[in-house]
Amino acid sequence: MYNLERKQILVTGGAGFLGSHLCERLLNDGHSVLCVDNFFTGTKNNILNLLANPFFELMRHDVCFPLYVEVDEIYNLACPASPVHYQFDPVQTTKTSVHGAINMLDLAKRVRAKIFQASTSEVYGDPHVHPQPEHYWGHVNPIGIRSCYDEGKRCAETLFFDYHRQHKLLIKVARIFNTYGPHMHPNDGRVVSNFIVQALQNKPITIYGDGSQSRSFCYVDDLIEAFILLMGTADDFTGPLNIGNPNEFTMIELAELVLELTNSNSEFVRNPLPSDDPKQRQPDISLAKETLGWEPKVSLRQGLEKTIEYFDDLLSK
Ligand code: NAD
Ligand code: UDP
Repeated sequence: MYNLERKQILVTGGAGFLGSHLCERLLNDGHSVLCVDNFFTGTKNNILNLLANPFFELMRHDVCFPLYVEVDEIYNLACPASPVHYQFDPVQTTKTSVHGAINMLDLAKRVRAKIFQASTSEVYGDPHVHPQPEHYWGHVNPIGIRSCYDEGKRCAETLFFDYHRQHKLLIKVARIFNTYGPHMHPNDGRVVSNFIVQALQNKPITIYGDGSQSRSFCYVDDLIEAFILLMGTADDFTGPLNIGNPNEFTMIELAELVLELTNSNSEFVRNPLPSDDPKQRQPDISLAKETLGWEPKVSLRQGLEKTIEYFDDLLSK
């Protein structure tokens, strides 16, 4: 039967870790999805199971260049998220965040589409306020090796709010905290995938610094649910909205749990702490609970089990 409710939805960065889960969820919800990606960190493997769906379309395109398509909604996720990858070509990272935001906002303005921005907890930098509420302005180094990402994302937020004020665009800005799950790239470089891949191969677990720095890890399914709920909020709700799991762990605690769940013989090796590495990070999700009626359901142990299963399968191929 013809689905009158079916929306045309653009997902930039749709072949990446989060983007591929979002594309699948939107298709399952009955929408048409246009996935735009330049495959810098994303891969066709993440969307292989979607390619046969007639309501899924894939376009190789760099968001640093304008895009002319007809869509009802836009989720702007295009940007490398792992420090290793966003520091590989930092100028391109800033361009992707800033020019990418301008191009997607111009598209939204032209077709009057509602637009979602995948912002980040990195806008809080190495925070002096803990946990971080949305009204905290952050503590960010503007000239360090993480700045291409942090300041790029901060500038993208500025652009979203200026297009909202100046051009009356409907915007939804999510500040995403560390998220993990299947479809992370085995060479992604982020801590969860690194530790799991190392443990499964009985290779040394690389602890940066003394491992006492903390992060709060959200399982991908919980995060995608919050994206959909945020996009469905009333027009006058713009965010920024923290989305993440407030359960905080040190990197040593994470490594020990990964070793236990993989039955691995790996030993810990200490590597230097990268510069500007935030010491702690935990979202204050009071606003998400209040506005979305949402909170994460998947514990770190449950989420790691599913992620380990994914990598175990991937590495055995
Ligand atoms: P990812 O690297 O797996 O996915 C990013 C995708 O964007 C990739 O498919 C990549 O090829 C694509 N891309 C990069 N530059 C592009 C360009 N110029 N044009 C078109 N496509 C481009 O990362 P992810 O974890 O899926 O992150 C997705 C978004 O969420 C990013 O914007 C990231 O900043 C944000 N985010 C993620 C996390 C997290 O923990 N996963 C946390 C905070 C924010
Ligand atoms: N980290 C680590 N070993 C690794 C990769 C990362 O100890 O192999 C640390 C890193 O120094 C940081 C934390 O884990 O303190 C999270 O790093 P990630 O790159 O996943 O995300 P981000 O720093 O952007 O939160």
